[in-house]
Amino acid sequence: MTPDARVYAYSAVLMGSPILLKLFEHNESLASRVFRLIKQQENIFTVNRHDSDVMAINHAAGSHAVAVSQPVFDLIQRAKAVSLLPGSCFNVTIGPLVKRWKIGFSGNSVPDAGDLRALIALTDPNDVILDETTRSVFLQKAGMEIDLGAIAKGYIADVVRDFLHREKVEHALINLGGNVQTLGAGGDGDWAIGLKKPFSAPDSLMGVINVTGKSVVTSGIYERYFEHHGRRYHHILDPKTGYPLDNELLSVTVISDDSIDGDIYTTLLYGMGVEKSLVYLQQFPNIEAIFVTKDHQVIFSSQRQFTFVPLENSDRTVY
Ligand code: AMP
Ligand code: MG
Repeated sequence: MTPDARVYAYSAVLMGSPILLKLFEHNESLASRVFRLIKQQENIFTVNRHDSDVMAINHAAGSHAVAVSQPVFDLIQRAKAVSLLPGSCFNVTIGPLVKRWKIGFSGNSVPDAGDLRALIALTDPNDVILDETTRSVFLQKAGMEIDLGAIAKGYIADVVRDFLHREKVEHALINLGGNVQTLGAGGDGDWAIGLKKPFSAPDSLMGVINVTGKSVVTSGIYERYFEHHGRRYHHILDPKTGYPLDNELLSVTVISDDSIDGDIYTTLLYGMGVEKSLVYLQQFPNIEAIFVTKDHQVIFSSQRQFTFVPLENSDRTVY
C-alpha cells in the first residue's frame, strides 16, 4: 500500500454504540454489508430484545433446553469455561444482577442488599448445562439469565475481520464502540488507536497505541456508571458480592490477535487487579495489557505487539 493511500470512513449506530469502519477504497456496498452483518450478529446475542437466541435460552430457564447454532453454542461454552476459572470474576450468568442494576440504562439507585444476595444464587455458571450432541443450552434454575454483553462485541469484531478477509480486504479497521479490530496496517504504517483519558471528553486521549493486524479492547469503569450519594457505581459487577468491582483500576486495555480474547481478558484482568494480572499474563505471551489506575499510573504487562506514545496534548484525532 502506498503511504498516502486514502482512508474512507463509514459509520453507523448499532448495538447502542457508534460503529466505525475504515477502508482504503470507496466501497459503500461493502460497508453496508459489514453493517448488516453486525446487525444480524447483534440480533443473536442481545438481551435487550425478546427474540434473540440468547433470550430464547433465558426465557426457557428452569424449564427446558434450547438448541442453538454452532457459533452461539461455542461462544457460550467458552464463556462458561472462563467463568469457571479459579478466581474468575467473569460470569456468563451475571444477567439477573445486570438487569437489577440497570447501569447504563435507567439505573440510578443502589439495589437492596437482600435482593442482590438472592440474585447471586441465580448466577452459578455450573447451572449452565451444555449438550454438544443436541447443541443445546439449559439454564437449570428459573430466573437465570445468560449475559454475553462483555464479549459479544469482541466476537462480532472477529466475525467482521473474517468476513473482510474473505472479501480479500487486506487493510481495514472496525471499531465497535471500544472494541477495535484491525486488518493489516493503516495507511502509512501501524494503525493508531487512541487510549481514552478516563472521565474526560470522549476525544481526550492519554496516548496512542500503534498496532498492525491486532485487536485493541478497552474496558473501563468510566464507560457506563451512575453516581449516588457521592459514590460512583459502574457496569462491571463482581459476581461474588453483586456490587460493582472495586479495586485500584480505572481501565484495562488488551492487545491480542482476536478481539474475543481481548474482551474476555479485559474483564478477567479487571477482576484480578494489576499485581495478579502481571503474573498471570506471563503464561500468555500473545495477550498484552495496559492498566490505568485510579492514581493515573499507566502500567504495561509487556510491549511486544504494539508501541505506545503518551499524548499530553490530547486534541489529536486518531484511530
Ligand atoms: P464491557 O463493556 O466489555 O466491559 O462489558 C460490560 C458488560 O458486561 C456489562 O454491561 C454487563 O452486560 C456485562 N458484565 C458485567 N459484569 C460482568 C461480569 N462480572 N462477568 C461477565 N459479564 C459482566
Ligand atoms: Mg468486554
